[in-house]
Amino acid sequence: EDKPAIEVTREDPPKARIKLTHPERIYWPDEQVTKEELANYYTRVWPQIASFIVNRPLALLRCPDGIDGPRFFQKHPWKGINSSIDQPKDKGEALIAISGLDGLIALVQSAALEIHPWGATFEDLERPDMIIMDLDPGEGASWDQIVAAATEVRQRLTDAGLTAFVKTSGGKGLHVVSPLKPHAKWPEVKAFTKAMAMAMESDAPDLYVATITKSKRKGKVLIDYLRNQRGATAVAAYSTRARPGAAVSTPVEWEALSQIGPASYTVRSDLPEPWDGFRKAARPLTFRPSSRRKATS
Ligand code: ATP
Ligand code: MN
Ligand code: MN
Repeated sequence: EDKPAIEVTREDPPKARIKLTHPERIYWPDEQVTKEELANYYTRVWPQIASFIVNRPLALLRCPDGIDGPRFFQKHPWKGINSSIDQPKDKGEALIAISGLDGLIALVQSAALEIHPWGATFEDLERPDMIIMDLDPGEGASWDQIVAAATEVRQRLTDAGLTAFVKTSGGKGLHVVSPLKPHAKWPEVKAFTKAMAMAMESDAPDLYVATITKSKRKGKVLIDYLRNQRGATAVAAYSTRARPGAAVSTPVEWEALSQIGPASYTVRSDLPEPWDGFRKAARPLTFRPSSRRKATS
């Protein structure tokens, strides 16, 4: 019986077929993180990140000269874009998407240092498959306050029949994320998250604020629900951040929150993987906004 020359097992990590030009280019100067190290990072976390970035519209924060150079937040394909990056259309406009690891490494080649997907896939762009509550500390707000806000958001999501997961932003705050069965459309999901943010503000006006006016945030946590509208994006779980420190937006256990900070994990960390059950936990949102309140945006 002939043995194959190379045995490919299921454990073999996938390999991208993208050629990196200037692999030695430095993206994070303080840490000396290069383009090649970033490609290796994304190859390593591919099994964890894939479902959050494949087949979704993506916005990219591109920094061709690294985090200290010019930066471009892009939602549309550019001239000369790598052919491993897809350009599907939405309402006649070309968007950015990837369908596999080659696409992800092509993003690295394109100096995309942050990946910001929609909370919906191309299977149905009108019905989000996740809710993202973005918790932003106002000036002087403590980490404990952010954690308390996240815990309260979790409770309110649970009360609505949903399951809540949490990740660091890799910046200053936390993101509480709930998987949805794609059912409710964007306006309904936005109304639900807006109602939650407003309720938190009116129940505890000293702790929470639901409107983005900067001056009102001092010492409080902004419950930023505006990630939950058509076309809005939030940084992906396991995406790097184009900020000093080379932090990564990292899924964490709820119980771990008190022992970490928003940028505790970096491209060089051994990253936790507590979201295995994420997709399985998806439930449909069933929310009917109060008819007595006037609908505003
Ligand atoms: P932090 O924890 O520091 O708040 P964050 O990723 O949550 O980190 P935010 O400022 O709260 O940062 O969120 C900004 C959101 O707005 C991002 O999720 C991003 O998808 C979106 N966005 C829209 N336009 C831009 C832009 N020009 N640059 C960066 N982000 C943008
Ligand atoms: Mn935020
Ligand atoms: Mn925000």
